[in-house]
Amino acid sequence: MSNLIKGKKHEWETVIGLEIHAQVKSNSKLFSNSSTVFGSKPNSQVSLVDAAMPGMLPVINRYCIEQAVKSGIGLNAKINNHSVFDRKNYFYADLPQGYQISQYKYPIVGEGKVTIDFKDGTSKDIRIVRLHLEQDAGKSLHDQNPTKTYVDLNRSGVALMEIVSEPDIRSADEAGLYISKIRSILMYLDTCDGNMQEGSLRADVNISVRKPGDDYGTRCEIKNLNSIKFIKQAINYEVKRQIEVLEEGGVIEQNTLLFNTSSGKTSPMRSKEEAHDYRYFPDPDLLPLDINQEDIDKLKNAIPELPDDRKTRYISDYNLSNYDASVLTSDKYVSDYYDTIIESDKTLKDSSKIVVNWLTSELFSLLNDKNIQINNSPVTPQNLGKLVKLITEDIISGKIAKEVLVEMFNTKQDPEKIIEKKGLKQVTNTSEIETIVDEVLKENQIIVDQYLSGKDKLLGFFVGQSMKKSQGKANPKILNEIIKIKLSKKK
Ligand code: ADP
Ligand code: MG
Repeated sequence: MSNLIKGKKHEWETVIGLEIHAQVKSNSKLFSNSSTVFGSKPNSQVSLVDAAMPGMLPVINRYCIEQAVKSGIGLNAKINNHSVFDRKNYFYADLPQGYQISQYKYPIVGEGKVTIDFKDGTSKDIRIVRLHLEQDAGKSLHDQNPTKTYVDLNRSGVALMEIVSEPDIRSADEAGLYISKIRSILMYLDTCDGNMQEGSLRADVNISVRKPGDDYGTRCEIKNLNSIKFIKQAINYEVKRQIEVLEEGGVIEQNTLLFNTSSGKTSPMRSKEEAHDYRYFPDPDLLPLDINQEDIDKLKNAIPELPDDRKTRYISDYNLSNYDASVLTSDKYVSDYYDTIIESDKTLKDSSKIVVNWLTSELFSLLNDKNIQINNSPVTPQNLGKLVKLITEDIISGKIAKEVLVEMFNTKQDPEKIIEKKGLKQVTNTSEIETIVDEVLKENQIIVDQYLSGKDKLLGFFVGQSMKKSQGKANPKILNEIIKIKLSKKK
């Protein structure tokens, strides 16, 4: 698959590197015991440490450290036994300390990689440079008062993991797949809740373009995007902009940009000259972080099955394609749902692909329509399994099954009860089907003659008419055979 983009004069290659900020899932903050619950009353979760009162000292939250280590293991990355917390100095209203405690030279997690999977069955590795821990800042609220800005410090001091990729990403789609994959891994590990709407996972996107084979071009960085849709839009807009500038003989200036979600355009926030000088230095209030190998190994041994392992299991145990397996396993809840279906009945393992289709096309579209998450699905995995069994055992047709599924979705009922009550069972009784076919042939004498004179394609017409007459209930295989036999007898 080529990712090259045609400009007016040249072909261009997109180069993208992502800095993902993932909020650590933990009850309390990185250096204080304040709660991290989202959506509470402003400034109700602020300790003296978070408000940076003079003389307050940070105390490391061990659980946050473990969460970062687990995340590193999930990203196939090197865990550093020795890391250091630094002060990153800048002034902003929502940063009471006047600096952010972060990690710079010595991050807790080093190089790693994650694999992304494409529709055509191929995959690609994206290299991770590092994962480091840092504090989140507070929030400025500009919409509470016409003339004032308020500050909410509830988020101040919450632990963030910043995950930095190498510039290995080559398109907006790849960037989307990469973020989804990171999100999925962290959610399997339970180290981040993955809620992008609430800002628990957001990304800074670095973008440049180059002619294939050239060195990397100058990049721009789009700050703080919190939806995959916006990330893709922003990339596509920015790539087009950069190509236009370059083809007109201009140069790209290394700027920090903001993406306007209503106009779909990027605009400069600050230029390289205005870039902050953060004057990093080791935080004198915190000792370097030294972690025993034993503790790391303990966490390693407790890592649950991750999406890639699950994908491999689906391919080997259920005979699914790489793509189907990756779609299912990308969301832990979908994947758990699928496992529950297959485990609900021994015979369903042989229908694993049919189960995928009923789950990912039919049930998903009903859920999407109503904006319901799979873990709240009104159709239980057991009942979806029963529905698939009714199809594979020829008790109902696929077409009827769709109606039954809608009914299951609306009433939470068992599919067997629904087809019983509505009399939807498939007709397999041959004499009943023969009667229907006889009627159809009699009613359409002219078309029968056309068929007999060589228009084989008309077979489908008789099948359709007979199926309609049976109200969709005739077993299609038996119906087909009977029609063929009856017509051949007329020859
Ligand atoms: P900074 O700390 O100034 O943001 P880094 O070197 O840490 O700079 O890079 C930040 C991100 O930018 C990384 O994800 C990296 O992959 C990406 N990046 C670096 N160079 C380029 C480039 N030429 N084009 C696109 N992305 C790049
Ligand atoms: Mg950056």
